[in-house]
Amino acid sequence: MTSSTIRYKRTTIKLPYNPRTGLCRVCPDKKLRKTNYHHWRHEFETKEVRKNPMLALKNTAELHYGHHLLANSLRDFVDMPFEILQALVETMDPLTKQNFLERCKQLAS
Ligand SMILES: [Zn+2]
Repeated sequence: MTSSTIRYKRTTIKLPYNPRTGLCRVCPDKKLRKTNYHHWRHEFETKEVRKNPMLALKNTAELHYGHHLLANSLRDFVDMPFEILQALVETMDPLTKQNFLERCKQLAS
């Protein structure tokens, strides 16, 4: 097996093997030349990950670039202070706000 690297908190971590499937978890029908690991949460300090590189894969999803950007936005959304999120939603035009709130309800059901 070939080795691989992964970015973790602005550091490149060398993994003992290449865990990539080349498939996006959201749209797996397409074989991709390149995928990204999205970190939903950085649970460990960089020094812990350097000692045990496989920790870098925890809380991740392999995604294509476009879905990675979307996942970054969703992570920002989740991490955002509620007051800021609420104020941001209030800047939406009425139709966008309605669609956004409907999507949230769909996700919660
Ligand atoms: Zn995708």
